[in-house]
Amino acid sequence: MIDKLKEKLGEGVLENEPLASHCTFKIGGPAKYFFIAKNSDEVVNATKVAMKLGIKFFVLSGGSNVLFADTGFDGLVVKVNSSWFMVHGADCKIETDAGVKLAEVVKAAAENGLSGLEWAAGIPGTVGGAVRGNAGAYGHAMGESVESVEAIKVSSFKFQVSSYNKEECRFGYRDSIFKREGGIILKVVLKLATGDKKKIKEEMNKILKARDGKIPTDSSAGSFFKNVEVTDEIVKTIKEYTHEDIPADFISRGKIPAAWLIEQCDLKGKQVGGAKVSEKHANFIVNAGGATAGDVVALASLVKTKVRNETGVQLNEEIEYVGF
Ligand SMILES: Cc1cc2nc3c(=O)[nH]c(=O)nc-3n(C[C@H](O)[C@H](O)[C@H](O)COP(=O)(O)OP(=O)(O)OC[C@H]3O[C@@H](n4cnc5c(N)ncnc54)[C@H](O)[C@@H]3O)c2cc1C
Repeated sequence: MIDKLKEKLGEGVLENEPLASHCTFKIGGPAKYFFIAKNSDEVVNATKVAMKLGIKFFVLSGGSNVLFADTGFDGLVVKVNSSWFMVHGADCKIETDAGVKLAEVVKAAAENGLSGLEWAAGIPGTVGGAVRGNAGAYGHAMGESVESVEAIKVSSFKFQVSSYNKEECRFGYRDSIFKREGGIILKVVLKLATGDKKKIKEEMNKILKARDGKIPTDSSAGSFFKNVEVTDEIVKTIKEYTHEDIPADFISRGKIPAAWLIEQCDLKGKQVGGAKVSEKHANFIVNAGGATAGDVVALASLVKTKVRNETGVQLNEEIEYVGF
């Protein structure tokens, strides 16, 4: 199979590539086959080839929201790593390959006096990863700035490149049509607004400083669990279980932080093998040194069970498990 893949994709196809080197958790076994796609044409080609050869494939970008299994991935990992983007200043738009680092685009927006992405300063990963998961922080999310997306619709081995306007992307909390239905994002057009360069940079610096104070520096995949949507039922359940009132600002923001629920269960610092609930931010499971995916999964299920038993809330993962 490796010979066939090399024939179609070139000598760059690797075998048994350690996935721990390609994710921010620094955990995970090998990918049977591994290929870096440097632009959207190469992504299209690699996924087409995998489908034709009947090989299972996984599209990886910045690797900042995934946990790879200790056994790795028994198929082709297509790592998207492109650098092409274009700023259309007069239209306040940025057109970009999905595989461009979000930080690059955030920086280019600031340098060109385009406002709307300041909140995203400091978020690792790529534009494609951020659009797929509708990444967000400080009350904003990626979907707000998306004008259109070009993506591969993959359904029962059919292959079709389609264009989506913002509405068709069906953005929700850490959610989009691409996450729900499995599309591969190739290109994104972002619509921003004219802003003052100095003010944009000041806002970004403020965000970076705030993040510095609260984001753990140990290896992780970001927030492990999704925050919980406020509903009358959830509020009642938490009150029944904990006999505590939910802070008013959570109610007004419409989300109960998973970190708060985990703290209520005294889980900060809890460790299984090398995996640890961060002391700095309870919704970060960190690799405190030598963690295996097994350690992380065991700790995550311990957290979920304790939170369910003690607050009545079922936590759901924000990160993606791959190869399990
Ligand atoms: C220290 C730290 C801080 C973080 N802070 C935040 C934060 O403030 N807010 C936030 O929302 N997130 C945060 N994250 C999580 C993460 O950075 C985001 O979810 C990011 O958008 C993931 O992008 P990625 O390119 O790394 O995706 P990956 O981790 O490579 O992939 C994640 C998922 O997206 C899929 N995917 C990737 N690229 C594409 C594509 N082109 N088309 C279709 N599917 C694709 C993958 O298959 C996978 O299922 C943080 C992570 C870390 C480590």
